[in-house]
Amino acid sequence: MAVPASSVDASSGTGTRTGPAPWVAMYHSVGDRSDDPYRITVTPDRLDAQLAWLRRHGLRGVSVATLLTARARGEGRGLVGLTFDDGYADFVEHALPRLRHWGCGATLFVLPGRLGGDNAWDPLGPRKPLLTAEGILHAATEGIEIGSHGLTHVDLTRADDLTLKAETVESRVALQELTGAPVGGFCYPYGTVDPRAVQAVRDAGYTYACAIDPGPLTGPHALPRVHVGQRDGAVRLLLKTRLHRLRRRPVEGV
Ligand SMILES: [Zn+2]
Repeated sequence: MAVPASSVDASSGTGTRTGPAPWVAMYHSVGDRSDDPYRITVTPDRLDAQLAWLRRHGLRGVSVATLLTARARGEGRGLVGLTFDDGYADFVEHALPRLRHWGCGATLFVLPGRLGGDNAWDPLGPRKPLLTAEGILHAATEGIEIGSHGLTHVDLTRADDLTLKAETVESRVALQELTGAPVGGFCYPYGTVDPRAVQAVRDAGYTYACAIDPGPLTGPHALPRVHVGQRDGAVRLLLKTRLHRLRRRPVEGV
């Protein structure tokens, strides 16, 4: 099915600072999905096909920081944010080579309180190893934006004040020390967000934050994202880009 790039306008590209929310795709793990109860895993071949799909439609995956900077300059047309949550070790093995092949960037949201650990917060399913400090550094040196997913994967809407501050402030400090670079992006664990969590993330100095479907909280510190999974072939991806444009309210200053 041939679709002209103009019909898959994933970003406003209007040159104004107000436009449809940017199109940001959400991935988690890339690898073996024989035991995947949360459907958070895509196979390397599927990721490859999805990145090829973007290319065919005149789109290119970039980090969220790159996407937002480009949009602020009115140059966001044709760019799609690619995000990978939790910092699974398979990112370096399976995602990085495909991203490099297609000339794409991405943002990796990691948990500095669980370096080299696993997804112990998931009650079901296989334990999946998380990147070590070396693995995160390797991704950063390959041009991947490193963002914070909090310290340990806590639902911020249920966290007490001390925990909320630690998860936002301390995770940023830890990642800046690890990478030696500023960390501007945050990603809400579980995608859950409320005004208090947004304020904490803003106070911690992040320039943007990713949610999933933040509704009325949508803004630079609560960006909506679209889950992209194993079942998303060409037709479903096309529908998602279109539905995203219809469903998302404009985002001021993004
Ligand atoms: Zn997560």
